[in-house]
Amino acid sequence: MTDPKHKLALQTRIVQPKDDITPGFESFSVPVARASTVVFPDLASMRSLVWSDDSKWRYGLHGTPTTIALTQRLAAIEGGEFALLQPSGLAAISNVYFGLIRAGDHVLIPDNAYGPNRDHADWLAEDFGLEVSYYDPMIGAGIAQLIRANTKLIWLEVPGSVTMEVQDVPAIASVARARGIVTAIDNTYSAGLAFKPFEHGVDISVQALTKYQSGGSDVLMGATITRDEALHRKLKRARMLLGIGVSADDASLVLRSLASMKVRYEAHDRAAFALAQWLKTRPEVAAVLHPAIEDCPGHAFYACDFTGGAGGLFSIVFDARYSTVQVDAFVEALELFSIGWSWGGAHSLAMPYDVRSMRTASNWPHDGVLVRFYIGLEEVRDLQADIEAAFAAAFA
Ligand SMILES: *Cc1c(COP(=O)(O)O)cnc(C)c1O
Repeated sequence: MTDPKHKLALQTRIVQPKDDITPGFESFSVPVARASTVVFPDLASMRSLVWSDDSKWRYGLHGTPTTIALTQRLAAIEGGEFALLQPSGLAAISNVYFGLIRAGDHVLIPDNAYGPNRDHADWLAEDFGLEVSYYDPMIGAGIAQLIRANTKLIWLEVPGSVTMEVQDVPAIASVARARGIVTAIDNTYSAGLAFKPFEHGVDISVQALTKYQSGGSDVLMGATITRDEALHRKLKRARMLLGIGVSADDASLVLRSLASMKVRYEAHDRAAFALAQWLKTRPEVAAVLHPAIEDCPGHAFYACDFTGGAGGLFSIVFDARYSTVQVDAFVEALELFSIGWSWGGAHSLAMPYDVRSMRTASNWPHDGVLVRFYIGLEEVRDLQADIEAAFAAAFA
């Protein structure tokens, strides 16, 4: 101990103040606990740490009270037990690969999966010895025929990014479970609100919190959620050794939006469904790919397995008489819909896709160009008028 008569210099007191803050303060927000260094009371506590023990603080990368509050709420939304945060949805996908997959293993991925998941798998196949096959998302229990002796992981996604097919998740999950193969679902579309993967036999749920959880088009974050402690440990170890964590500031932004997520999701859902139904009556449109509308492959699985709506994202396929150039002109003529990646915020978005160039394992039946809409929180009648005006401008 220093001599009690020793007086600390101002600079030392600025670095190590004895803050005199009145106790008993409470508010609704989770405090932003920033940390790289986590302080231990003594050496024995530091030395007794075991990396896998979730009940102890260790280092800022692995969690602070702010990030742990977020993981607990995310696990509760999906009915999971354990959750981990990653700095983007894609990092969460990557965490699943590095946590579970070794060279020589085989992975099955639906042909309509989120594009960067495909790119990630192809990279691991090229450079790290992974075997990757893509499967028809509507394969259902037929997945059994594609399973190999070394199949270790089956990805699912409901509905598929861009093309919106809804998979028979219970059928695929039960085939996988019977063979001891892990299933991971990209459940970003439903935010975990409308589709509960663990109730349908899936092992790991991946969320891009960048979307509805953040709700502001201004934060990147991802999560992996599971009920299985052994899987959680594997994911946690990979996450730790890859050095991927999130800041308390970003976690606090997501926590701030999470309480309003369900009402936002429902508002997006009402608006998107109304516009999808209207688009179905339009002569320019050959098909409306919205899980709650019959045109959408797997609509019956949506009707059985989803509770709580489809949110704000759906696609349309234009009549084949319109060229790519004309559909591009339509997208550019929209004034209330912006052109940009991602979704989940207040602003509506539109993006054209060339689906045939995105597939390798299944037939795409449509000849017309696909446009994906994300319906934000603007008034539906304004969005409808905007689309109508863009039809007129582009297809006159
Ligand atoms: C956006 C998205 C991701 C990736 O999220 P990022 O945070 O942008 O990396 C993953 N899956 C789906 C289905 C997405 O829409």
